[in-house]
Amino acid sequence: MLICFDVDGTIDCKENDNEEYLKGIIPEDVLVELWKKGHKIAICSPSPYFPDKWKGDNHWFQRNGDGFSRWENIQDAMKHYNITDKDEVIYVDDLRGTLKIVRDVNGIKKVYTPEGFMEEIEELMKNETT
Ligand SMILES: [Mg+2]
Repeated sequence: MLICFDVDGTIDCKENDNEEYLKGIIPEDVLVELWKKGHKIAICSPSPYFPDKWKGDNHWFQRNGDGFSRWENIQDAMKHYNITDKDEVIYVDDLRGTLKIVRDVNGIKKVYTPEGFMEEIEELMKNETT
């Protein structure tokens, strides 16, 4: 799976923990574990805050910072990992409105809140993909 993440309100990392509303619940180590299991990881948030260790061309897709570039960032990540099937993509975001757009407009069926994602984590850790 290609797992695309929002950051603020979604991922728990030191870079965004100075403001309560930016704090997320998914420990960044979970991203590392998923990566080790063979999943592809992409940070697709237009936010200036992000887990530093995931910065760089391999994981960080930031088309721009205006807040409306998520789908472009997800598409960049798909291109980078050579994925054309939207069913191979998961998107995780704390904002239900954003999840709805990514699901209903952009056609990514597997969208999760951070809480919902953490409930699936055991399954994802089991199902190693290449
Ligand atoms: Mg967010």
